[in-house]
Amino acid sequence: MDIKGRIEELRKLLTTYSHEYYILDNPSVSDQEFDALLHELIRLEQENPMYFSEDSPTVKIGTTVLDKFEKVHHDVPMMSLSNAFNEDDLRTFDEKIKKEVGPVNYNVELKIDGLAGSLKYENGKLILGATRGNGVIGENITNNVKTIQSIPKTINYLDNVEVRGEIFMSKEAFNNANREREEMGLELFKNPRNAAAGSVRQLDSKIAAKRNLDMFIYNVVSPDSHNLTNHSGALLFAQNLGFNINPLSQICKNIDEVIAYIEFYTQKRNDLDYDIDGIVVKVDDLNLYDEIGYTQKSPKWAIAYKFPAEEVVTKIHKITFQVGRTGQITPVANLDPVIVQGSTVSRATLHNEDYVVEKDIRENDYVIIRKAGDIIPEVVRVVLDKRSPDSISFAMIKQCPVCGAPLTRTDSEADYYCRNDFCDAKKIEGLIHFSSRKTMNIEGLGEKIVEQFYNDGLLKTIQDIYLLHEKRDELITKEGFGVKSIDKLLENIEISKSNNLDKLIFGLGIRHVGEKVSKVIASNFTNIFDMFKVDIEDLVAIDEIGEVIAESIVQYFRDPMTRELIDDLSRFGVNLYYQSNVSLKDEFAGKTFVLTGKLEVYSRDEAKALIESFGGKVSGSVSKKTFAVVAGSDAGSKLDKANELGIKVLSEQEFKDLLDR
Ligand code: NAD
Repeated sequence: MDIKGRIEELRKLLTTYSHEYYILDNPSVSDQEFDALLHELIRLEQENPMYFSEDSPTVKIGTTVLDKFEKVHHDVPMMSLSNAFNEDDLRTFDEKIKKEVGPVNYNVELKIDGLAGSLKYENGKLILGATRGNGVIGENITNNVKTIQSIPKTINYLDNVEVRGEIFMSKEAFNNANREREEMGLELFKNPRNAAAGSVRQLDSKIAAKRNLDMFIYNVVSPDSHNLTNHSGALLFAQNLGFNINPLSQICKNIDEVIAYIEFYTQKRNDLDYDIDGIVVKVDDLNLYDEIGYTQKSPKWAIAYKFPAEEVVTKIHKITFQVGRTGQITPVANLDPVIVQGSTVSRATLHNEDYVVEKDIRENDYVIIRKAGDIIPEVVRVVLDKRSPDSISFAMIKQCPVCGAPLTRTDSEADYYCRNDFCDAKKIEGLIHFSSRKTMNIEGLGEKIVEQFYNDGLLKTIQDIYLLHEKRDELITKEGFGVKSIDKLLENIEISKSNNLDKLIFGLGIRHVGEKVSKVIASNFTNIFDMFKVDIEDLVAIDEIGEVIAESIVQYFRDPMTRELIDDLSRFGVNLYYQSNVSLKDEFAGKTFVLTGKLEVYSRDEAKALIESFGGKVSGSVSKKTFAVVAGSDAGSKLDKANELGIKVLSEQEFKDLLDR
């Protein structure tokens, strides 16, 4: 292909990818791949200026905006940033600055991976929130930004002021959102950036409100009208107005200090609560900005260093199929083990048939693996050059790999299901779920043991768990068990009978009913017997419950087998009533805590449950509203933020003392 052809091809590709990324919030290539193509285009255009075009993705910022939103004109354009990919790029940037204005101080900041937003205040009131859009025209998302807790709705400053920053979703909020989506059978968010962009660009602001978004401000527009002379001072000014400022920015006196900062956060980035995709380096002295100048797309006084891809290539040696407790069939890529971001990955979910077909993933393919939200391993794409010529396309199985029942998929579902209620895999998964920590918490009845007891015919149903004591003599003779371990297990089963009702409801494994919904149902109905009488209207009248969940609950309780199960549990003495266990304690009631670092005495879940049981709340991020931060060992940015805001910090021992008081 000639140069002109390649330039046109690159422009087309980049325009398609930008549309997927900015408009659909569903990119099909990684940022690194996008950046590599963009840089090839920049180089070709520089070398061949006769092919310059105003419409090139090298000149345009973002993409056009969605019609569904009111359009907003940015009086001061929201620009992009030029990129650096290595030390040389950074030194070249520094040389140019020095040549233009002499030595400078740089303010270095984390490059938060979210989407840019602008907030306007008049007479101390938030009057507008907008996306960047194409830099000049953005989308009006005021109703959505108002749902973000850390954005002040009013400020104590009467001059008109506009601030800009990054709207993002923390890793914790991302994982919670995906856990909820998984429970609801919805497609998972690919990463926190897409989740944030997708949430903030919804017409229904209730959706954004649920997603626990956050925002760091990194820019004050027209700083001279607020008498600001340097960027670090502008950040402080914004902080004093009540905005959330990333606490990890720093002044560097020269480019070597900048490089050291970058090296430090390249190592540290996985410990942060939010995704960052690089480091932004900005000249601190605002008075120099006009002199240094701007390109059409970005300021020349700043540069974004982009982290290299944390993506690794490995081979899929087999695609297997997992049967979940609801019968959902998930294809799984079994990989030659590789280390991704410090941990070994040997399996990655392939989600469902559509995902595998769309990416054309096959057995024996080499694939690129990365961790979504730094946690869940996922297959980014196939390395086609390495595909063997005799490879065979993926074909979804038509029968349950465990019981052989035909699999079905309805039009509204992305997944195939085994609908056989007697499928062994479903029953085993159901029993594992029932005894797991977040449900009935029966220690000693983990995955392996449930599977073994099931296969030995000792444990086929939930009822059998509570009848295991009748088989004590047989159990203690089993290999690997003894009197002590079996008695402990039987004791734990006995203890589980007094669990609160929400644990039991969650444990029953009703489709679409996760931990949160179980709590909602238990506290609304207070005993399980009332559940047999509810209809869909009763349920949808409850805030957190929608049609799909309501239908599933009603269907579950209309099943005669459910009646039988609950009657049996009642006979065995399992608690079927809800006890509101909120016993307000002054130290906790109405107060918000943040947990950070590694706790030794309590697990995160235990600490959270304890705080909630005394009427407190647990939040994922530190703000002025935080009452105290409980900091375990290796606490990171949340601790820094707490110190900076002067929030009380408790060691785990102090927290324990507070609980014991
Ligand atoms: P950019 O991401 O390189 O840099 C500019 C943006 O950085 C700003 O708009 C702002 O949102 C953000 N930012 C975060 N922290 C900041 C801070 N402290 N100070 C200033 N800005 C900060 O440029 P861009 O124009 O927004 O987007 C282009 C990038 O988006 C590409 O480099 C690529 O990585 C990604 N992209 C990916 C695809 C894809 O298909 N994967 C498609 C289009 C764009």
